[in-house]
Amino acid sequence: MVKGKVELEQWRESHIALSRKGAIRAFCYDCMGEYNDKEKDCKNINCPLYPFQPYSSYVSPKKE
Ligand code: SF4
Repeated sequence: MVKGKVELEQWRESHIALSRKGAIRAFCYDCMGEYNDKEKDCKNINCPLYPFQPYSSYVSPKKE
């Protein structure tokens, strides 16, 4: 099962606060159209949630 499905369903059924990690998973699941096109990594480096997207390939730039 893809990440975020359970969390989004829990939220919609109960409105009991999720963990931050669960909320991001749920949000990304919704944002990605429930991953219906099978694409998992949104590759949206402009989204501040991208480093935490459950299928992200984000690598932090080195600090100088
Ligand atoms: S990280 Fe990607 S999937 Fe998650 S909210 Fe941002 S754009 Fe949407």
